Amino acid sequence: MSRIAKIREIFSSIQGEGPYVGTKQLFIRFCSCNLNCAYCDTDFNPSNAKDYSVQDLIDLINRNGEIYTISLTGGEPLCSVDFLKEFLPELCKYGHKIYLETNATLPDALKCIIEYVDIISADIKLKSATGMNIREKVYDDFFNLAMHKDCFAKIVFNNKITDEEIDFCCSIAKKYNFPLILQPEMKGNYFSISSDFAKDVFDKFYSKYQNVRLIPQVHKFLNFR
Ligand code: SF4
Repeated sequence: MSRIAKIREIFSSIQGEGPYVGTKQLFIRFCSCNLNCAYCDTDFNPSNAKDYSVQDLIDLINRNGEIYTISLTGGEPLCSVDFLKEFLPELCKYGHKIYLETNATLPDALKCIIEYVDIISADIKLKSATGMNIREKVYDDFFNLAMHKDCFAKIVFNNKITDEEIDFCCSIAKKYNFPLILQPEMKGNYFSISSDFAKDVFDKFYSKYQNVRLIPQVHKFLNFR
């Protein structure tokens, strides 16, 4: 029996975060998440979502004939791993590139579908920004798999970031050799921190790990979705 996924929205736009900023993508926003970050602005109300079968979703994506990079986003897409296990092998037949945006806390789910994924945008959740306390082993298990793909880690930070958190992020990035993307937390369409503070944080990271970039959420400045 074909599985059903609850999808919050599907839309074509410009990627506004990370090293692929500015590229065209088709975003598939899954409902539900296993975390509860303090800054989360995702609408989890299931009555605002729609059920899609694998075939419905593939037909919708292919309707205009364009080959897309498909961004699986959320919520947390890996919460829908049973659906993805059926959906991604079918989707890959059409040549679409798969870009997974994930909170990096579900390594067992990643293992089930990683062969179909091209790019992994993985969060490292700072307790100071999210209120979440993720164990180091979870990141070890996740990045040990993700490092074999085009993978980078995104770190949303605010003015409460600590030196211990910076040390932790740099040590895990060194261990698995991936770029770190520093993303200042936004309040609406404004930075939650000053430019000087952002530069200080960047410099602290850079003194420990040079494969780091400071990239804000560009879609907010462009007033894109
Ligand atoms: S991981 Fe993302 S979707 Fe889930 S609670 Fe955190 S910010 Fe929201």
